[in-house]
Amino acid sequence: MRKKATLCWSCRPADGMADFIKDARGRRIDYARISVTDRCNLRCVYCMPGDGVPYIAHDDILRYEEIMFLCAVLSGMGVRKIRFTGGEPLVRKGLMAFLADFRKSFPDIAVSLTTNASLLERYADPLAQIGLSGINISLDTLDPEKFRHITRVGNVEDVTRGVASAIAAGMTNIKTNTVLMRGFNDGELPSLLSYAWENRITPRLIEFMPLGDDVWQSGMFMGADEILAGLTELYGEWRLVGPEHSAAAFPRGPAKYYEDPQNRIVGIISAVSSHFCSDCNRLRVTASGRMRSCLFSRAETPLLELLRNGDEDGTKQAILLGINAKPDWWERERDGTLRMSNIGG
Ligand code: SAM
Ligand code: SF4
Repeated sequence: MRKKATLCWSCRPADGMADFIKDARGRRIDYARISVTDRCNLRCVYCMPGDGVPYIAHDDILRYEEIMFLCAVLSGMGVRKIRFTGGEPLVRKGLMAFLADFRKSFPDIAVSLTTNASLLERYADPLAQIGLSGINISLDTLDPEKFRHITRVGNVEDVTRGVASAIAAGMTNIKTNTVLMRGFNDGELPSLLSYAWENRITPRLIEFMPLGDDVWQSGMFMGADEILAGLTELYGEWRLVGPEHSAAAFPRGPAKYYEDPQNRIVGIISAVSSHFCSDCNRLRVTASGRMRSCLFSRAETPLLELLRNGDEDGTKQAILLGINAKPDWWERERDGTLRMSNIGG
């Protein structure tokens, strides 16, 4: 029988819980990425097989009230930033109402969304009204044919219209995330960066992560040093600056930000070459409520039943156990059969 959740969503617990949690290696965990759906309207070649992934049964997906309960527990444990992701979060029905509720319930938590932006035109106004702390838009290419190739089914015009609508609606903390792949989009760097800068967006360049052995090719990989050298060749010297120079609403994150002589900012995320494991502050929860403390590891902590039962103590204990199993270094745990679609971005 389902127990009633008793946690007050808008207040901190007075049960002696520490203001924040540290894992067994002393890393402060204050950032959660929660996948609200396993479904997506695109099929990016590095993320999903062409015919998609078998959908998780409706009943096995976290309901919004369960996600809210999870957020309340995480907030009580010191999590200060929550990013909703997917699959594609904007395909889940009811997301606007959920985010509006979330914003009211957790005014102190930075809330952001990662999206492919292909449905953003429809949701830009409500999202702007909700007042997200930031929105990350995945954009690997502006070339319509390449976009169709990398996403298998998408139209880049949907994304650019979505971005324009977000800006027109008054959203400001916008970042683009570009996975740089040699031979695919490295030659497009100037146009991707100009597009971002002209729209007052912070562009971020991401190393291609070796998640699925069937799609990742070392020849396509471009490390942060090489990316920075390419940027220097194009624009002159870059100066390392703090995250406050970016659209980052929450200053702790894996990106390093650089400024060029014309005060333009770019972020580089070196998830592979100079991994940030020693400083990693995040945990992930999949759409079916499996918590993962490391993107590259198969280790998971099931939370769905605990959340469904409104079991606050059980959920906290499970989260703590999962966090303490966080590996010290991603390569030790790497499982080459995983793709982002198995995990939730
Ligand atoms: N559908 C949303 C989107 O595309 O923004 C959110 C989920 S998606 C899985 C989150 C991010 O993961 C995207 O920016 C995508 O580019 C990134 N991603 C997926 N597989 C990746 C890989 N192997 N290396 C680097 N980034 C990857
Ligand atoms: Fe969908 Fe995002 Fe994966 Fe592309 S990267 S298939 S948009 S979940």
